[in-house]
Amino acid sequence: IARNPGEREFHQAVEEVFESLHLVLEKHPEYMDSSVLERMCEPERQIIFRVPWTADDGTVHINRGFRVQFNSALGPYKGGLRFHPDVLLGTMKFLSFEQVFKNSLTGLPIGGGKGGSDFDPKGRSETEIMRFCQSFMTEAYRHLGDTVDVPAGDIGVGRREIGFLFGQHKRITNRYEAGVITGKGTTWGGSLLRPEATGYGTVYFTEHMLRSRGESVDGRRVIVSGSGNVAIHAIEKVQELGGTVIAASDSAGCVHDPDGIDLELLREVKEHRRARISAYAEARPRARHIDGAVWSLAAEESADIALPCATQNEIDGDAARALAEAGIRAVAEGANMPCTPEAVDVFQEAGVLFAPGKAANAGGVAVSALEMQQNASRDSWTAEYTDERLAETMEHIHTLCASTAEEYGVAGDYVAGANIAGFLRVADAMLAQGVI
Ligand code: NDP
Repeated sequence: IARNPGEREFHQAVEEVFESLHLVLEKHPEYMDSSVLERMCEPERQIIFRVPWTADDGTVHINRGFRVQFNSALGPYKGGLRFHPDVLLGTMKFLSFEQVFKNSLTGLPIGGGKGGSDFDPKGRSETEIMRFCQSFMTEAYRHLGDTVDVPAGDIGVGRREIGFLFGQHKRITNRYEAGVITGKGTTWGGSLLRPEATGYGTVYFTEHMLRSRGESVDGRRVIVSGSGNVAIHAIEKVQELGGTVIAASDSAGCVHDPDGIDLELLREVKEHRRARISAYAEARPRARHIDGAVWSLAAEESADIALPCATQNEIDGDAARALAEAGIRAVAEGANMPCTPEAVDVFQEAGVLFAPGKAANAGGVAVSALEMQQNASRDSWTAEYTDERLAETMEHIHTLCASTAEEYGVAGDYVAGANIAGFLRVADAMLAQGVI
């Protein structure tokens, strides 16, 4: 904490992992002797840079760009870019630290990194966003490459932004290096199913948790937070599996739709019109817009499943208690670290099935790694084949987390299972590669 003052979210992410690792150290003290734990908390490289850009009215703006290359023991750094005004170095460090463990759980050859900027895309024109992306890449390109570091999207960075970033990379380097970024359009090197993968994967994981107890998503009432990329595809998969999503949200409030969210309308509002979610309620007679957090609807709606898919620390201890008292059966983190440590304790003590983000939302980065494979072999796979690979990966992660928790005497604890299994693969690779 003294070395990284003020990086609250980073401290939170590290503490959460380290709480599980005492179980490993009791069995294997050699990890302590090799200082591998200290090395895993220190990013291999942190890049911070100026991003100047010109608004449509001619004013010049300066933002801060980041890329944290945390750990490359398993492969090139891999992780998304976030454009959001709250982004600080500590945000990037928490996200990239989590990414190291998440990528490890996928079993694929990818290290962990994350980046982004405190740029706020809201209210900006398309040409302003393009100029910002071009300026960001004008510095970032020298740190990227398909064997070095491969970014993707995250909050505020979707296919449009990936296109602008990729276009600038190509222009500067004069190389069509498709594998330098993932989440591309499918006609120019992107993988089918990449936009869907995080949300679908979160629901596949939820289904595995429930199935291993003889239950399923079918017939369940579900609350989802967010209405961005992850949330929309989580809603789609819940509906496909027979569940009903009765609420979704954005940063300005939430909508309650007792008939079940009309996905086509939600997409029209959020993806095409890029409007506030209140526009959804205006267009649906029985839906209403509420200013507060979406979780307050759990009791009224007897909800069974909560899928936080917006941002970090969106479920605190009080919200978790309200969800547990409402009888929620399962919570799966589609977002990164959306539940505070207190919230996770509340869920686990109440016997709520809880899936941590580094396991539950790993489907996105897994399909990004499949996009890299397709780019390397100049191939493009069908949606069906890619979905099969995604489903297999989520099943593998569920089994790995469950069996690791059991092996370490904490059966049913997916947090410990994910942290320990993620740690072991990275730590063993680091030890094999010497003191690096
Ligand atoms: P999007 O930008 O597509 O959507 C984000 C959603 O969350 C929007 O509805 C947004 O509302 C809402 N939101 C963002 N910040 C806040 C906030 N501070 N308070 C309340 N609501 C907020 O991002 P994604 O869907 O891609 O990402 C969502 C989460 O999933 C993030 O935690 C991300 O790190 C994680 N994730 C994403 C992956 C991916 O493949 N995209 C992969 C793995 C994890 P508004 O529209 O009002 O801004």
